[in-house]
Amino acid sequence: MAIVEIRNVSKTFPAQSRGGTDLVALDDVSLNVEAGDIFGIVGYSGAGKSTLVRVINALETTTSGTINIAGIGITGLRERELQKVRLGIGMIFQQFNLFHSRTVWGNIAYPLQVAKVPKAQHQARVSELLRFVGLADKAHSYPDQLSGGQKQRVGIARALATSPRILLADEPTSALDPETTQEVLALLKRVNEEFGITIVVITHEMEVIKSIANKVAVMDAGRIVEQGPVFDIFANPREASTRRFVSTLVDDVPAGTALDSLRHKHAGRIVTFSFRDNSVSQSAVFAELISRQIEFELIYGGIEDIQGSTFGHLTLALTGGKDAIDQALTAAARLVELTEAR
Ligand code: ADP
Repeated sequence: MAIVEIRNVSKTFPAQSRGGTDLVALDDVSLNVEAGDIFGIVGYSGAGKSTLVRVINALETTTSGTINIAGIGITGLRERELQKVRLGIGMIFQQFNLFHSRTVWGNIAYPLQVAKVPKAQHQARVSELLRFVGLADKAHSYPDQLSGGQKQRVGIARALATSPRILLADEPTSALDPETTQEVLALLKRVNEEFGITIVVITHEMEVIKSIANKVAVMDAGRIVEQGPVFDIFANPREASTRRFVSTLVDDVPAGTALDSLRHKHAGRIVTFSFRDNSVSQSAVFAELISRQIEFELIYGGIEDIQGSTFGHLTLALTGGKDAIDQALTAAARLVELTEAR
């Protein structure tokens, strides 16, 4: 069942001044998030990601289209009813948004107070969450005494306090260093696996998508240009903006100045072998070259493991007889997609 269903949603911000043009932040966006997904939404700054998150939890109204959360249509609901829907949605933020004047304990207990959970139950719930995020010894610290990663773990504990079914994470790791990023992503993965909480994560970092998401939508100028299972999108990106994102993780087929510089440095024919699933072994491809005494050098590219499947592009400079190379490439082309630089 889709726990978040977005149908043809648009959001236009009216022009600020007379003569200005309206700003279309969301343009006919449709997507389904299934219960249990970690759904990544990736896009550059200004693509409309935050606006999308804000319409999902009804902090922002839509101009047109419908949104269902766990089967409830939220477009047009009254504020009291919206508050109930929002209780089922936890939020975490790039800048953590903690109360600096409250202790860690006070921050995590805050949503319980708002939801009027009897005080007698706070102690048990907050202690449980502190243990879950590994901060049992920091209950009485203040946010300013914590590292960025610890602050985000408090943010996650606070978002989980009222046991939401959905967690919206708005650039949760963008303020963190790479090592802390991995810690926070591992924690989000546990939130999903151990509590079955559906996560929608927005980010401009493909690393986040690669590490935890099972599905991804790519946003550009208010539109979703491509969406699907993460491996499919990584292995076969169709749109230019998707390719740009994927190439932040793995070098694509070299082109332009990258290709010029390879040509300058290496003799021979430049050929890229594209691996997109586990069915083709690299050794079978290289065996075609080796058996014909073709010399090769790996000059560009890389291989990534995405959720157990291998993908990437390896660019080689090949030297040897023309016929031998032609034969090897014909044989290799039966195994794997290849592109020869012209
Ligand atoms: P992202 O999160 O991908 O960086 P946003 O959703 O924040 O993108 O913004 C999408 C576009 O909508 C941007 O051009 C932004 O300037 C505009 N926008 C967002 N919120 C408002 C607002 N409250 N009023 C006017 N324009 C806005």
